[in-house]
Amino acid sequence: MEIEQNFNNLKQLKPFRGFPKRRKPFYQCGDDQTEESTGFLDGNNIQIGSPARSSPHSQGSDNGERFSRKVFVGGLPPDIDEDEITSSFRRYGPLIVDWPHKAESKSYFPPKGYAFLLFQDESSVQNLIENCIIEDDKLYICVSSPTIKNKPVQIRPWRLSDADFVLDASMSLDPRKTVFVGGVPRPLKALELAMIMDRLYGGVCYAGIDTDPELKYPKGAGRVAFSNQQSYIAAISARFVQLQHGDIDKRVEVKPYVLDDQMCDECGGQRCSGKFAPFFCANVTCLQYYCEHCWAQIHSRPGREYHKPLVKEGADRPRAVPFRWC
Ligand SMILES: [Zn+2]
Ligand SMILES: [Zn+2]
Repeated sequence: MEIEQNFNNLKQLKPFRGFPKRRKPFYQCGDDQTEESTGFLDGNNIQIGSPARSSPHSQGSDNGERFSRKVFVGGLPPDIDEDEITSSFRRYGPLIVDWPHKAESKSYFPPKGYAFLLFQDESSVQNLIENCIIEDDKLYICVSSPTIKNKPVQIRPWRLSDADFVLDASMSLDPRKTVFVGGVPRPLKALELAMIMDRLYGGVCYAGIDTDPELKYPKGAGRVAFSNQQSYIAAISARFVQLQHGDIDKRVEVKPYVLDDQMCDECGGQRCSGKFAPFFCANVTCLQYYCEHCWAQIHSRPGREYHKPLVKEGADRPRAVPFRWC
C-alpha cells in the first residue's frame, strides 16, 4: 500500500525536477546535493522535513560537492585571451574557458570582460575559492594580462544548495500550484526568488532554480510553488514580474508549470485511450490539462475560442557538452 502510494507520487511528480533533494529516499534523482534526506510521505503529498535548505551550514552532497564546476569570472583585463585565462587558473586544476557565443565569434578575447571557467573537478572550485580575497561579500582574485598586472577580477561560484529553497516546510508541494519563471538572472538564488515572489503574491512554499544536469549551473529559469490557488492565479495572471534584488532589476516571465505526464482533466483519459494530455490551458477560467478531443470540445464554447494551449517548457534535457580538458 505504502509502496504503491510512493510509486504513484513518483509518477506524478517525475517531470518536476529540482525538487528539494530530500525526496531522495523515494526518488533517486542522481544529482542529489544534500546529505540529509528526510522526505517522507503524508497521504498523497510530499512533506518537507525541515526548512533549512539554504542555510550557511548546508554542506552539499554526499561526496562533498558544494559548488558547480562552472564558475563566473568578471572584470577581466580587456586584452586577456583564452590561453592566458586558462593558464591563470590552471593551478587549481584542469579547466576550459568559455563565454557566450564563443564558438561562433571565433574571438580570442571574451568580448564583455567576463568568462566561465569550467573545471574538471569540483575540488578545483573549492581550492580557487580558498585563494580568493573577500570584499563586500564578493570574491576576488588577481589576474595578469600582457599589459595589466595583478588586476583583481570577480569570481562568482554557484553554491549547489542555492538551487532550492523551502520557505514553508509545513506545506506540501503541488505541481499544479507551481509557476515557471523564465529569464531569471543567473546570480539569483532560490531563497531570493522565494522572497521576491512571496512579497508580491504571498503563499510561497518553495522556489527552485533550474540547473543543467552536467555542470549543475543555473540555466536562467526557475520554479515557484505556492500553497494556495489565489497566489498561484495572481502570479500567472500577472504574466510578468519585476525581479528586484541588490544589483538585479529585471522583468521576467511567469507561466504555469506544465507537466508532461498528466491525464486529461475532462475525460481522465477515456477519450484518448489513456494517453497523457498534450495541452494545458493557462486561462484562469480553464487551468486544466486536455486531450485533443476535450480541448476542441471545451474551447468551442463561447468565450473560450481564443484560449491557446501551453506546452511544457524548461525541460531538463541532458545537454551534450563537448569537453576538452587541458
Ligand atoms: Zn479528454
Ligand atoms: Zn481554456
